[in-house]
Amino acid sequence: MKSEEFRKIGIDYINFIADYFDNIESYPVKSNIKPGDIYSKLDKELPESGINADGFLKEFEEIIMPGITHWQSPNFFAYFPSNNSFESILGELLTSAVGVQGMIWETSPAAAELEEHVMKLLGKAIGLPETFTGVIQDTASTAALCAVLTAREKKTKFESNKKGYSSNRYRAYCSQEAHSSIEKAVKIAGIGSENMIKIPVNDDFSINISAFKLAVENDVKNGFIPLFAVAALGTTGSTAVDSIREVAAVCRKYNIFLHVDAALAGSAMLLPEKRHFLEGIESADSFVFNPHKWLFTNFDCSAYYVKDKSLLIRTFEIMPEYLKTANDDLVNNYRDWGIQLGRRFRSLKLWYVLRGFGLEGLRKIIRQHIDLANQFASKINKETDFELLAPVNFNTVCFRFAPKGHESEFDKLNAKILADVNSSGKIYITHTKLNGQYTLRFVVGVLRTEETHCNNAYNLIREIAYKCISKEIEGKI
Ligand SMILES: *Cc1c(COP(=O)(O)O)cnc(C)c1O
Repeated sequence: MKSEEFRKIGIDYINFIADYFDNIESYPVKSNIKPGDIYSKLDKELPESGINADGFLKEFEEIIMPGITHWQSPNFFAYFPSNNSFESILGELLTSAVGVQGMIWETSPAAAELEEHVMKLLGKAIGLPETFTGVIQDTASTAALCAVLTAREKKTKFESNKKGYSSNRYRAYCSQEAHSSIEKAVKIAGIGSENMIKIPVNDDFSINISAFKLAVENDVKNGFIPLFAVAALGTTGSTAVDSIREVAAVCRKYNIFLHVDAALAGSAMLLPEKRHFLEGIESADSFVFNPHKWLFTNFDCSAYYVKDKSLLIRTFEIMPEYLKTANDDLVNNYRDWGIQLGRRFRSLKLWYVLRGFGLEGLRKIIRQHIDLANQFASKINKETDFELLAPVNFNTVCFRFAPKGHESEFDKLNAKILADVNSSGKIYITHTKLNGQYTLRFVVGVLRTEETHCNNAYNLIREIAYKCISKEIEGKI
């Protein structure tokens, strides 16, 4: 393609994107396509000669779009959000235009310096102590793996990097509600999933500190070596918050590396009224949150902060001759701050979001999402046939339909509500299990979600719930 053609077609793409957002509510939120439907419509052979890119947009609309679940829809209340914004899309566009590979400072000084700068400003904006240094990772899962590997190298004085890793006496700890990526990281790092100790939770689904202490003490008594712990600032199930201060006190006593996982809720630390959840953070070793979740920055962009950057760098450092440069002592070479060598230029989109919205602009949207979740929860609370199943700390409401006389089939009933609500195409919600009970989750976190979307969603869920029991009653007659 020549630049003249790109210029011409490119305009159509920008218009297509703007139209998509203008009309996003006309699509079914969750794609209801059957497995294989998309595949069957795709060209089965690659063309020998290139085809005109003119047709790609039409094909995207006709073949790809039906298989898209609309994460940017204001009626998306599932999982946790994965937001973008026009500011972020413009940043991504320029990132793809310059197409840089930012493995070291020299391969694009602007990528390295902007990343350093943005991470400093972002850390300050969410109230992290200035002792923390940030680096952008692809995901919170990768950040957790970086944290476990750093903990392992710190404990073995960098010997396991050199000689390989053989001990099966190390232990890692997190609550039963912590994210699956923690166990995955512990497995990959060679600690072993049997050494991943899942600590019971309190009624509010936060880690039970006495149980944590006891588990560590027992492990020490039995010759195990406590290595790594995670405090969740907003679990994925119900956004429960572990007390960082209390977890950190145990970690300090037993010399355990403490990672704080705030993948979603880190964004809410922009709000002074939520900052108390960070209490004790100065004692943590690392902290992660995902601007690609609730900070309107295209996937992927995960902000990973560490207290001692030299530990991180020593864990990952490699120095082949061909990567040595004259400036190595003066600049950040991010290839040594994580797993992969090649790195995307991700800071640009985040830079545009932070300045495009402004901190007060971001606070306003996040605060509104939290208010809307609380409104939803207080309506549930007033119903006789619905119940809340967890505290609403941020933007996530955990609830179920629990009408009298149907106690034995609550799980089945709520699973049916979920299926019917989602197949309506009008909204998308997902579920979890809390205390073994089937739980519906309503998460308010998409940039464009307003009060009317939440009200309509509430009415739809309620209507479908009652339909589910009247149908059953009919069936029984
Ligand atoms: C979403 C989430 C993760 C995983 O995030 P990725 O960036 O997809 O790896 C980890 N922890 C928590 C608490 C999460 O909510």
